[in-house]
Amino acid sequence: APVVYDVVVVGSGGAGLAAAIEACDHGASVAIIEKMPTIGGNTIKASVGMNAAETHFQILKGIKDSKELFYDETFKGGKFKNNTQLLSEFVQQAPEAIDWLASHGIELNDITITGGMSIDRTHRPADRSAVGGFLISGLVKNINTRNIEVLLETSVAEILFANGAVTGVKVVDEYNDSRILHAKSVIVATGGFSANREMVAKYRPELDGFVTTNHKGATGSGIAMLQKIGADTVDMKEIQIHPTVEQTTSYLISESIRGGGAILVSQAGLRFFNEMETRDKVSAGIIALPEKSAWIIFDEHIRLNNKAADEYIGRGFVISAATPEELAVKINMDPAALQATLKRFNQFVGQQNDEDFGRTTALRYPLSLSPYYAIRVAPGVHHTMGGVTINVETSVLDTRKQVIAGAWAAGEVVGGIHGANRIGGNAVADIIIFGIKAGRNAAEYALG
Ligand code: ADP
Repeated sequence: APVVYDVVVVGSGGAGLAAAIEACDHGASVAIIEKMPTIGGNTIKASVGMNAAETHFQILKGIKDSKELFYDETFKGGKFKNNTQLLSEFVQQAPEAIDWLASHGIELNDITITGGMSIDRTHRPADRSAVGGFLISGLVKNINTRNIEVLLETSVAEILFANGAVTGVKVVDEYNDSRILHAKSVIVATGGFSANREMVAKYRPELDGFVTTNHKGATGSGIAMLQKIGADTVDMKEIQIHPTVEQTTSYLISESIRGGGAILVSQAGLRFFNEMETRDKVSAGIIALPEKSAWIIFDEHIRLNNKAADEYIGRGFVISAATPEELAVKINMDPAALQATLKRFNQFVGQQNDEDFGRTTALRYPLSLSPYYAIRVAPGVHHTMGGVTINVETSVLDTRKQVIAGAWAAGEVVGGIHGANRIGGNAVADIIIFGIKAGRNAAEYALG
């Protein structure tokens, strides 16, 4: 007998899981198809948090924020290339997405900041741990209580399309057996293509050879499958490199370390850039250094306020020392230069004015509490802003901007929301906001 679902979700990252939960709660029968052996996609690696303005968690903390400012800063960070309709929807729905998570047992009630933002609006778990693991484990609990089927090590090879509408998917399992799953709605939540070296090099030859922070399932297969049924794409050349990636492990050093007050210094022991600028600019600043890498320097104050720091220490790539001089010696840096840099930066923190690089945020503490820490970082391929085109209802659009019936997409597979540069903390917001929407709309369409 044919296997029939109302909604098939392709991909088990944040967008796919949120979509599946919401589709189920709207009465649909749902299956999630995941090509990797584990759930969570690249979302599980998300570090800093989820941006939203005018949330009740901000109000509880006395943070005054506005949706207009969130919109303007995201638009400016995206070099005014963002799809304005999608961006408006994103900003508008963000507080509700924070509440949706809370009502599903996933509270992001601590708040920090990322580069390109002027206000603390990056929501993260109360224990200040990385958002990705927390988010995925919370979503998986919701998948389990609803008995939603998840097929692991099974990839969608093709989206089936007949008489002007999607009819299902062809899947291939770990034994290479293929079969058809029928569904009126297919939600493509397959993530980006940062781990597809050929595809990255095709659009941006100069990025060939860069490490990537992404899991190896980030191959962009959803884009190709949707193109086959007529979908259009946008901004495919907009590929984000993240400035602070530990190169021996490709491990991303969270923006929350800088957001907690850390600085970047060159091998010469000098600051060289506003560390809280957007990712594209900070990356360019590092690449412009003769050594094409930098040291992220922080102190015990910052470690105490950020669980990620302990994780990095546990991974063995953090160099620590009791004094700045000792730290400098260990990393082959002129001790006098590093000391002078710290002294000058600490003076800027005291006066809340960075005279050298105009950093206006995260001037939190003087870097003066022993021990001191250093991690060597350089940019790595991190996020693909481009992808398939959708409307605000998450319907996939063809090259004439017409809806492809039954095809929905959410998350990093979609292009346009982030324009030419994604702001840290906006990917998690994107996947949850549009994941919920895709789930709801796909269910209503399939059942309607
Ligand atoms: P997002 O952040 O947009 O939710 P993620 O990268 O977190 O995206 O998750 C996307 C998931 O989709 C990954 O787990 C990836 O392995 C999975 N995936 C990608 N292509 C396919 C495919 N063709 N079939 C099944 N799963 C896929």
